[in-house]
Amino acid sequence: MNKPTVAVHKFSSCDGCQLALLNLGEPLLVLTDLVDILHFAEAGPLDENAKVDIAIIEGSVSTSHDIDRLTKIRDNSTYLMTIGACATSGGLQALRNMADTQQWIADIYANPAVIDSLDNSTAIKDHVKVDLELWGCPINGRQIVMAIRALLFGVLPVEEHDKVCMECKRQQTVCVMVTKNEPCMGPVTRTGCGALCPSVGRDCYGCYGPAENPNTQAMANRLQGLGLIKDEVARRFLFINSAADAFHQQGLRIKEAE
Ligand code: SF4
Ligand code: SF4
Repeated sequence: MNKPTVAVHKFSSCDGCQLALLNLGEPLLVLTDLVDILHFAEAGPLDENAKVDIAIIEGSVSTSHDIDRLTKIRDNSTYLMTIGACATSGGLQALRNMADTQQWIADIYANPAVIDSLDNSTAIKDHVKVDLELWGCPINGRQIVMAIRALLFGVLPVEEHDKVCMECKRQQTVCVMVTKNEPCMGPVTRTGCGALCPSVGRDCYGCYGPAENPNTQAMANRLQGLGLIKDEVARRFLFINSAADAFHQQGLRIKEAE
């Protein structure tokens, strides 16, 4: 019997989410027994135009060439999942969406004409249909394995959109905001990381993007109550997931009120 096929594609990104997948170790070896990975440049297999059952995409759309490539990947795949903050919300590089990209290019590069860069860095879902989004910077490799395993069993993967605070409670992690006055973004951030940062005593900085129904105004008020000035509060929202709607809107509201 033919095994289901998978391709892992990269767009504008740091490769960290692909590394999270590679770093899985043994679970990845088990996965390779269950599926055929036809394209995964970072791991070896190369066949970018292969037709596959599951396409996994890391990275944001940043060049005009990206859009053509992405359209082909969507045409060649049955199920498409995006991994990481870049692919789901434009990533750290979407900070340029709030600046004059062409001016930056002119200031940085000796020959700006050779730089093919769109003014905005955008999420994959802004261009093609996406069946599942896994957030994070980087993602938790366990989430990819769970999603693929669900698909192999013929069921739709469950999306995690609880708040990180819920994960802290489940793990009985001591709250760093309550006990140490750390400006933790956990109350508005989506879980999936296992509350990694609070579990080692530091604040969450929102790398998994907005959770469901995030009360960003209450979060902003609390951060100011902890002593952050408005610009610092705005930067908590306008950071790795600056283009994710709930964080973007709240960050801009604070900036406009400055
Ligand atoms: S440490 Fe952060 S994420 Fe955990 S319960 Fe406190 S506020 Fe929520
Ligand atoms: S606790 Fe927050 S910043 Fe840390 S890994 Fe999780 S979502 Fe990212």
